[in-house]
Amino acid sequence: MSGFNFDVITLFPKAFELLNNLGVITRALDKHLIKVNLHDLREYGEGSYRQVDDKPYGGGAGMVLKPEPIYKAYESIRKFPKSKTLLMTPQGKVLKQKDLARWSTLDQIIIICGQYEGFDERIRCLADEEISIGDYVLSGGEIPAISIINGLTRLLPGTLGDPDSLVDESHNSSLLEYPHYTRPLIFKDMRVPDVLVSGNHEEIKLWRDKKRIERTLERRFDLISDEHYKHPSNIKRVEKELNKSMKFLMKKENDIYPDW
Ligand code: SAH
Repeated sequence: MSGFNFDVITLFPKAFELLNNLGVITRALDKHLIKVNLHDLREYGEGSYRQVDDKPYGGGAGMVLKPEPIYKAYESIRKFPKSKTLLMTPQGKVLKQKDLARWSTLDQIIIICGQYEGFDERIRCLADEEISIGDYVLSGGEIPAISIINGLTRLLPGTLGDPDSLVDESHNSSLLEYPHYTRPLIFKDMRVPDVLVSGNHEEIKLWRDKKRIERTLERRFDLISDEHYKHPSNIKRVEKELNKSMKFLMKKENDIYPDW
């Protein structure tokens, strides 16, 4: 099986050296489960200064990436049969786990990273999808691109030691994951819940399911898309759960960030 191909157009290819120091992602590179091809935008710049940016028409602050170098870099990339091109922009659709899952069955993702004030509007027609990694503005598309490479790679078969760890995790369904504990049993007077050391697998599963609901209700009510929770006859139950969770939240300050 040939690996998954990431082709990235960037003015800062060195930023991607981080991928060589990221545990499971680095192992996926070593095992050829993924290949990351970096296309240095500067090499496609114009004139002896290899110019890639220019002042915006109409005036205003900052510099804008010119369209020609990005087009040239894009045309130089070998396209695979199942390929999608993503443009990194804070104006795009906010990235979700289900997008990573959807793309993980492709052969190739081409990522275009902006810089400075952004890019000339005419490069938008190269993209199949415009993606934002959240409602904030970074200085360039490199960290968003690394986030996508990282999140997608861990979904590929053979990347994680135990693929079961993908099943219950947050954002895989509409519920967040349950809390984890490891040794020691007591740390600074905080004790691991008894049920987890009971050895009773049925009880442990019940506790974890309950915690998933509780956690989601208290932190990310917006994620609960399941009709079951939205149905009017269940609203009372949800409110009750929510009240219960709020009490839980106030009692156990260290279970949640103080300024949540
Ligand atoms: N002036 C632009 C922002 C430019 S930020 C605007 O207001 O829309 C410079 C570049 O960083 C962008 O072109 C994009 O590639 C990248 N970038 C910044 N924040 C991002 C985010 N939240 N998600 C994805 N890419 C982002």
